[in-house]
Amino acid sequence: MNEFIPPAKPLIGDEERAAVDRVLRSGMLAQGPEVKAFEEEFSEHFNLGRACVAVNSGTSGQHLGLLSSGVKAGDEVIVPSFTFAATCNSVALTGAVPVFADIDADDFCISPAAIEAAITERTVGIMPVHLYGHPAKMNQIMAIADKHGLQVYEDAAQAHGASLGGTPVGAFGTFAMFSLYPTKNMTSGEGGMVSVADAEVERLMRLYRNQGMEKQYHNEVVGFNTRMTDIHAAIGRVQLTKVGAWTKARQDNAAFLTANLEGVTTPPVAEGAVHVYHQYTVRIPEGRDGFAAALKEQYNVGSGMFYPVPNHQLKPFAGTANDADLPETMKAAAECLSLPVHPSLSQGDLERIVEAVNALAKAGA
Ligand SMILES: *Cc1c(COP(=O)(O)O)cnc(C)c1O
Repeated sequence: MNEFIPPAKPLIGDEERAAVDRVLRSGMLAQGPEVKAFEEEFSEHFNLGRACVAVNSGTSGQHLGLLSSGVKAGDEVIVPSFTFAATCNSVALTGAVPVFADIDADDFCISPAAIEAAITERTVGIMPVHLYGHPAKMNQIMAIADKHGLQVYEDAAQAHGASLGGTPVGAFGTFAMFSLYPTKNMTSGEGGMVSVADAEVERLMRLYRNQGMEKQYHNEVVGFNTRMTDIHAAIGRVQLTKVGAWTKARQDNAAFLTANLEGVTTPPVAEGAVHVYHQYTVRIPEGRDGFAAALKEQYNVGSGMFYPVPNHQLKPFAGTANDADLPETMKAAAECLSLPVHPSLSQGDLERIVEAVNALAKAGA
């Protein structure tokens, strides 16, 4: 049998190893000059035009961003149910209530119409997710937020470098979180980067990150230790020099798949959107689970389901929304299948993926 094609593959090279070694030899391991440089370089690389704050994970970044934006117990934040649990967890951890809105069929992202329908007098913000690396409908979402006096918190965990109408994701909301987990488009090992629009929100984030201290032993708020280490920042800084080429490879791989796949629904790209293909997600209308198993067993091609269980069905959030009110969420959860699109795929790998998917789609039809 052909070699296994994994659904994701973190890329770590000699440059990252050398950078880690440099930091280890310096003897300064915790948050320091590498983190500061990484924050500045990240903002500049992605043209965010705003300050960035590095933390130890994307989830902590969202949590701290929400706390720093004033989100508190009793507030409501509108979120998609079709996302990774961290989106909803970060809201719930502030004591606020995640209110689930349906997605749109075209981009798998939160639906502006569903957001409007979910607004109550307790709503303080909207957390759209740029799912799979495709920007959410930010023009409509920002207009709704303006009209109702709401904040927007972007979950850009999967969308480093994505943009809409020339504006990069991460430059729309009160804050935006980029995850640096190993399978994301770039990594620092674990980590998160948060872009922040407002200087006071940025200051609070830095306080919460460090036990509430700006000046040592003069704590101003009850804070966490969610600092990034200089070891992780050094990895991230190297990855910043590579992520542009990797994104181009993802886009080229996606273009090949879209041009050649038959019998499955390929992912559309909205007008004016730049999709960075964290995932390349097709829809298998019938028998998705068997399809994925056959891809692995018959063709040795890996795939992923992001996400088979929507958040409103997970134990912590069970009973907070009805399946019937989230029809596109339910449909996507049953149909979504992410095929390998990562930058390490060879032309031969891409051809094997196409051959396998087309054969299975034909057999199932
Ligand atoms: C990965 C991810 C997160 C969480 O990021 P971590 O760095 O793993 O904490 C949040 N939201 C989405 C959509 C993600 O994919």
